[in-house]
Amino acid sequence: MSFDEEYDRPPVSFTPAGDDDEARETNLEMVKPSPGYFTVSVLIAEAIVKRSEVTVLDYTSNQVTVRYQIDGIWHAGPPMERETGDYMLATLKQLAGMDYRERRARQTGNFATEYQKTRQKIRVVSQGVKTGERVAVYITWKKELIETVEELGMRSSMKEKLREVLRRDDSHLLLVSAKPGEGYTSAWRGVLSACDRLTRDFFVIEEESLVEQEVINFGSITFDKGKGETSMTPLPQLLLKEPNVLAFNDVPDGGSLNDMMAISSKHDMPIFVRGPGRNCIDALLRIVGLKPDLEKFANMLTMVVCMRKLRKLCQTCKVDYKPHPDLLRKLGLPEGRISELYRPFVYREGMVDEEEKEVEPCKTCGGIGYYGLTGIFEMLEVNQTMRSALLKKSDQQTLKSIAQKSRQVTMRQEGALLIAQGITSVEELQRVLSLK
Ligand SMILES: [Zn+2]
Repeated sequence: MSFDEEYDRPPVSFTPAGDDDEARETNLEMVKPSPGYFTVSVLIAEAIVKRSEVTVLDYTSNQVTVRYQIDGIWHAGPPMERETGDYMLATLKQLAGMDYRERRARQTGNFATEYQKTRQKIRVVSQGVKTGERVAVYITWKKELIETVEELGMRSSMKEKLREVLRRDDSHLLLVSAKPGEGYTSAWRGVLSACDRLTRDFFVIEEESLVEQEVINFGSITFDKGKGETSMTPLPQLLLKEPNVLAFNDVPDGGSLNDMMAISSKHDMPIFVRGPGRNCIDALLRIVGLKPDLEKFANMLTMVVCMRKLRKLCQTCKVDYKPHPDLLRKLGLPEGRISELYRPFVYREGMVDEEEKEVEPCKTCGGIGYYGLTGIFEMLEVNQTMRSALLKKSDQQTLKSIAQKSRQVTMRQEGALLIAQGITSVEELQRVLSLK
């Protein structure tokens, strides 16, 4: 889709801001004849087709750049001439009930749309910046709640190992990790959901302002930091209920972890904690960096599970290719058995096929080449060698090689399997694993 008018207006219908139906109707009649009405329709249709979470327009003196955030990644759209962009913005603000003449002060507004049989609520935020003006258009997508590690992409062999640890009822520590903002909640929910919650009592201890979507059958116990409370404050009451497992979704410092571990020993009960990390060893070292009682931590830790999120290739438009043997070797995939891998088909405006016919963007993914997310997991079973290395304060490299020797399945290997199955691409795995 392009922002010039050689095409028909995409049939987006608008419900503008307004106090009542009449005001909304008047508002809509006002914007319809405006030259910005066409471009706003294109912008919204494009954002919806691409499943963009936020579309950002940056106004500079002579043009407007457009960026879409999709599954957490930024994609550039074709830039727009400043004049076209100005008309579009005036219409956008009018629809959202904002003052279209105001181009410096921060403004927010809302309107609703219907396109391809779905209704969307659109939120617009505008703010004057040094170079001109920045405008963000937010669409809230109904996210499907991912409940289980299977849905997150954990394979059954790994799940069995996890279940074994989750079934233990003695004093030990399980560390669950992910990158904050990138599956931090899903990984935690997924692992907690894998517990056998019908026969045992599980409780999550959370800070009141940070309570996440509840995990079914997990009791949520909150404390209020603002009142000087800590994760230990609700415990005396809670322990009277004789819980079987305690789960802490945050370890603020080493002292807190020491308190958690003391409870685990005293009541001979497992504890699950969550911490940020790019991989298992990274998560482990971040906890060590909080300076807890290292000996106790090393002895109590049984397993680290870490998850990262990966975009899935669009199954409608992915393109196959014959991989070079070197690539397969690098990925650790068997050479003879894999004849093709897949890469995304990334649409660009003005693309033509072999017959010089214009190519249309894919209807499933809007031309992005990816559709949906999955997880890759890494699991570290802590053995005696790892414990001694932790106590000796060994560096990341040493810990990594110990993990490899104990046949830990790494994210790289998990990702390679997804590549072999055509679920994701080599580029996507590289992007995720090289992200700091
Ligand atoms: Zn596609």
